[in-house]
Amino acid sequence: MADASLFEYREFAGDRDGPRLLITAGIHGDEYLPMLAVKELIDRFDSDTELRESLRGNLTLIPIANQSAYQRGHRCGADNIDLARVFPGTLNGKPTEQLACALSDRIRQSDFFVDLHTGGTELCVFPLAGYTLHEDRSILEQQRQLAVAFGLPFVWGTSAELQGRSLSLARDCGVPAIYVEYLGAYRELAEALSGVAQSRKPDHPLVAGCLNIMRHLGMLPAIEDPFTAEPSSVACDIVEDARPGAGHMQVAHPAPATGFFIPAVELGQSIAAGDLLAEIVSATSPVTHQVLSQQSGRVVVIRDYPRINQCDAVAVVAESFKP
Ligand SMILES: [Zn+2]
Repeated sequence: MADASLFEYREFAGDRDGPRLLITAGIHGDEYLPMLAVKELIDRFDSDTELRESLRGNLTLIPIANQSAYQRGHRCGADNIDLARVFPGTLNGKPTEQLACALSDRIRQSDFFVDLHTGGTELCVFPLAGYTLHEDRSILEQQRQLAVAFGLPFVWGTSAELQGRSLSLARDCGVPAIYVEYLGAYRELAEALSGVAQSRKPDHPLVAGCLNIMRHLGMLPAIEDPFTAEPSSVACDIVEDARPGAGHMQVAHPAPATGFFIPAVELGQSIAAGDLLAEIVSATSPVTHQVLSQQSGRVVVIRDYPRINQCDAVAVVAESFKP
């Protein structure tokens, strides 16, 4: 058994039977809104007796899965290993590999799994819920429904081939799972600093999304007020792309040079192949590098930081792919 003390978690057990749902934030240490949203959920279940008594099944909340990375304010922990690349981990491996091992045990003990992310310090992601295109039709359909139920504007099913992710482990042990991405960089910081993920009404989309998932799974009663938006009926754009590499956000449109980054597109914008994504300007040379989109589709990730290093991802364009 892996060392479960490697991360802190809270568990809320309903008096009535229901599914076991695991929600994690902070797999990456520089993604703060999900941590605040999970903290808000913990505070709410602690303070709201009615909410707690209405719970069916078992809710496990991990607000900061990767403490070492959080303490550094960095994507990776002190050993500089990306936790989201080493699942299922190794019992006696490096600290991040041991952590992946302990988190894997938690995922295996769950019936459903939601992993919350943002683009981190330098990338900004269009609010989306994603899943792997699982070969098991029943799990795939459950994942689709979870992603839609979360209630964000974009739903993205991508290749089941990506390895080392929390979702790869969930895939391998047959646990229906989704990941969520919500902004990043300075837009995330602005929301985090405004306190919007905590105790504000209406709920922040990350808080609302987790509660939507619980209603969808029958863990919380449905909203009776017909004027409250029914999350599963909110129109969202659904794209599925089974090609290998789809969904890998750190490598798309690599920068041809290091320099100042000037984006030419907005997050969520639809663009055509060949359109200008961004320019990279040097401080000392008149040469400007243009980065053109390799696909037609929707800009779901854009760098949101003034500097870019050669080979860093500029943007991800989610393509409506028809095999
Ligand atoms: Zn992340």
